Amino acid sequence: MARLKPAFLLAFFAVLFSLAGCAAPEQDASLDVGAGIGVAPVAAQQADAALPDTRGDPADELVVRFLDVGQGDSALVTFGEQSLLIDGGPAKASQKLYAVLEDLGITHLDHVIATHPDEDHCGGLAGALQFATCGTFYCSVTEHDTKTFGNVVQRLGGTPITVPAAGDSFALGPATVQFVGPVTPTDDANNGSLVCKLTYGTTSFLFTGDAEASSETQMTDSGADLHADVLKVGHHGSNTSSSTRFLNAVTPEYAVISVGKDNSYGHPTNETLLRLQAAGAQILRTDELGTITFISDGEQLSVTASTGKVEPVAPESAEQQAARAALEAEAARVAQEQAAAAEAQRIAEEQAAAEAAAAAAAQQDERTVYVAASGNGKKYHSSPNCSRMKGTTSLTVSQAEAQGYTPCSKCY
Ligand SMILES: [Zn+2]
Ligand SMILES: [Zn+2]
Repeated sequence: MARLKPAFLLAFFAVLFSLAGCAAPEQDASLDVGAGIGVAPVAAQQADAALPDTRGDPADELVVRFLDVGQGDSALVTFGEQSLLIDGGPAKASQKLYAVLEDLGITHLDHVIATHPDEDHCGGLAGALQFATCGTFYCSVTEHDTKTFGNVVQRLGGTPITVPAAGDSFALGPATVQFVGPVTPTDDANNGSLVCKLTYGTTSFLFTGDAEASSETQMTDSGADLHADVLKVGHHGSNTSSSTRFLNAVTPEYAVISVGKDNSYGHPTNETLLRLQAAGAQILRTDELGTITFISDGEQLSVTASTGKVEPVAPESAEQQAARAALEAEAARVAQEQAAAAEAQRIAEEQAAAEAAAAAAAQQDERTVYVAASGNGKKYHSSPNCSRMKGTTSLTVSQAEAQGYTPCSKCY
């Protein structure tokens, strides 16, 4: 990828546009270059503030940027000249995507993964594809009846949409991207999310889109190696994702939640945050930290954030340890209680069934039957008029059976 334009160039153009009194060309409108800015340093500062600091990316390291796109998902992965964009956030983030690619000088994306066609993942891809061409475009579906998806397809021009299967993989420089989900295709948009694992040396990242518990279970059952140092938490931290069993398979060191400030969905939920903490992950949120950038040299990870400081995780205080132990004990107690209640219910149901059977048997015994008055014959009959018997004596089933009678095969 071509290296960045220095910020003063942006400022220079800003001045040019404002002096010329003309609107910025449509493509540049995304940067707001000419929006009434007469003072060059301000334009430069604004561009800098809006964009992650991308200057001087190392050529031999993997860089993963979880872009702050508000309520949505977008991650840009680069290795030297190679690039992969996973989702583009909502349509509102189109300009941001355009600006980030422009700032990095990425005019061609080797790979684009649209995890699923929902607007908060696909919308901003239109902006990205307005700036950059695309090599391979992956999505969970090839068609989806929304304007958002239509816009993306339109921007793709003739580039076909590839629907990968679990197990498919491609290279990004010396790093590998492997799809691990969905294990079985589904019509459910979220659970159909393409899930991929990025591995470079001994470091790894897992991108889950909006996959929920049912997809997580299938991935866990598939036996795929799901461990990742960095987990892009499923579905913005919704309680429908990040099931305990899945987290136990991933055992992430960092859990990145891509989420909008004060979003109306209540993402992330407290339950999810507790499960991530219990799994031992350090939680990093785009609503608190802005764009979160990881750099991997194949052995070590470093992490920075655009609007906040990523603090190293302090060892748990005695107080926190006690709180977590109490939480775990409470969870164990609830599980035990639930198991005991289920066992009690099973026993009660068994008892009720036995009682019902006994009552039915008892009722059967009290039914009136008939035997031959003469005492001849060994059968009891349901009707006093059965042709196989002459003259009748009535008694109950239990009395008849006690006397050695068996049911008549004709009438009983
Ligand atoms: Zn979704
Ligand atoms: Zn989503």
